[in-house]
Amino acid sequence: MCGIVGYVGPKSALDVLLGGLRRLEYRGYDSAGVSVISEGEILTRKKAGKLSVLTEELESSPLSEASIGIGHTRWATHGAPTDGNAHPHTAGDQQISLIHNGIIENFSEIKKELEAAGVEFESETDTEVAAQLLAYEYSKTNDFEKSFLSVANRLQGAFTILAINRDDPDLVLAARRNSPLVIGIGEGENFLGSDVAAFVDHTKKAISVGQDQIVKLRQSGFELMNFAGEEVQAETFEVNWDASAASKGGWDSFMAKEISEEPQAVGDTLMGRLGADGDVELTEFAGLSIADIAGINRIIITACGTAAYAGEVAKYAIEQLARIPVSVELAHELRYRDPVIDENTLVVAISQSGETMDTLMAVRYATERGAKVLSICNTQGATLARESNATIYTHAGPEVAVASTKAFSAQITAGYLLALFLAKALGKTDQVAKVGKELLTLPRKVKKTLEMIGDVKALAEELKSTESVLFLGRNVGFPIAMEGALKLKELSYIHAEGFAAGELKHGPIALVEAGQVVIVIVPSPSAEESLHAKVLANIQEINARGAEVIAIAESGDVEVANYAKRVFYTPKTLPLLSPVLSVVPLHIFSMELAKAKGLDVDQPRNLAKSVTVE
Ligand code: GLU
Repeated sequence: MCGIVGYVGPKSALDVLLGGLRRLEYRGYDSAGVSVISEGEILTRKKAGKLSVLTEELESSPLSEASIGIGHTRWATHGAPTDGNAHPHTAGDQQISLIHNGIIENFSEIKKELEAAGVEFESETDTEVAAQLLAYEYSKTNDFEKSFLSVANRLQGAFTILAINRDDPDLVLAARRNSPLVIGIGEGENFLGSDVAAFVDHTKKAISVGQDQIVKLRQSGFELMNFAGEEVQAETFEVNWDASAASKGGWDSFMAKEISEEPQAVGDTLMGRLGADGDVELTEFAGLSIADIAGINRIIITACGTAAYAGEVAKYAIEQLARIPVSVELAHELRYRDPVIDENTLVVAISQSGETMDTLMAVRYATERGAKVLSICNTQGATLARESNATIYTHAGPEVAVASTKAFSAQITAGYLLALFLAKALGKTDQVAKVGKELLTLPRKVKKTLEMIGDVKALAEELKSTESVLFLGRNVGFPIAMEGALKLKELSYIHAEGFAAGELKHGPIALVEAGQVVIVIVPSPSAEESLHAKVLANIQEINARGAEVIAIAESGDVEVANYAKRVFYTPKTLPLLSPVLSVVPLHIFSMELAKAKGLDVDQPRNLAKSVTVE
């Protein structure tokens, strides 16, 4: 949540900041702002609303040329999304300017102290406390670095802060605790960003800033230290995304582009990890030995939102293939119920950004109790990867639309790879080659599934006035029903619920009445005996109450057409692998329905992509 960018160098700082904010806007879009230093003055513009409101403001009221600046796109936690609460926050009569990502937990205590010392506050944010405290310390010490260190040590909670001072127009100071920050190293210019998307246009050389570290960024280079002011070593990495991957490339929305990339996301995630014979190789497991794996007696998959549904699919795969008991726990619930976790537990944490605060906190909790942690993550240099024993990177490329699509498909794929790997490591190889080989066919089959886009769009347009949609699934179709409902809620703001089809008669059937739209994910006729028949019976129960069933079924399943009003057919695959295909029409449906309602599918209201607060 919240996008941060900082720059020092010979280019127009404003251009670099706005370019970075454009790429980071998915992280928050309540308001946006920039500060630069020009001729010894700090100049700031900030506006409530999307980035476009700020750029319009900058057109009507331009800023002078500058070679240093900071920029922010906000996801409000403290104080409404207004111009005044937008970042940057300046203090000390425009002495310093500061931006922040996260929540400062002890802000009210510091605020009281500063108010008692005569400091006046202009916003309702927790962030302004850091700005005012920094200006206050600087007024006493006249030493920017020392004051910044003292502020970083005083703040509690989650923060990445960036600050500039008009007395030093070549220095951006940054501190990071529990919120993300990366450095981009250019030639004669340097960058800071919440993630590499902020500067991937300018440089591919990056450093991910560690927990409780401070960055001194100048045009000529950077220094990294800890909160005690001691120098720390940095490790650079090469960014493997190119800038074009993070642009719309002719599509009308990032979401449309990213759905079209689902086949590639699945293919790239499998690449180099599965042989033509279906044999799996995961070199990422260096941090977990075969002895560690042999000692595992249970797996807890932890994640939030969509990633938790990918985790549910992984549960079916791991239990079926590796025969290890698995539970899936929402990360924000896990550590508050005294769970049984010990050194024989493997915690699998799933997060696209690798910065999801709830997931990170669950991982830290599990690590303290001796568990081994494996993460599934899409972002290089992410905190989650650094805090895990091993990471399976999904290779979905940058995902910009707030609602996850291709990263979800890649997470499910990574879950299958993990299940195969564990099965192989434990010598349970009976199904490995068969499932592995079939996995290799999935990119082609996802591509085939995308051909139904026109038909799904027509359905979404027909249903654009609908007020409620129910989703039913069974077995691996159950998490996909949940995912379909979540996407529809997120994008179309209409009531949507997902249920296990077997649960229908235990309650949800009370919602079924004439005109109700019910989308049913029908198991393959080749699935576990009688599953298919049971779901067809559910469809008849729904029909009997006058509701309309739209089915997602496997190609060749002629029987379902006798009962459902409309059927969307996906290519044949192993029942276990069907989620990668059956989710495609649901992603398209939610996007097209939102578009038919005239809504912004890339930036749905109230949401942000990378949820870096608890
Ligand atoms: N807590 C700060 C605010 O509400 C920062 C939020 C963010 O990370 O965007 O302004």
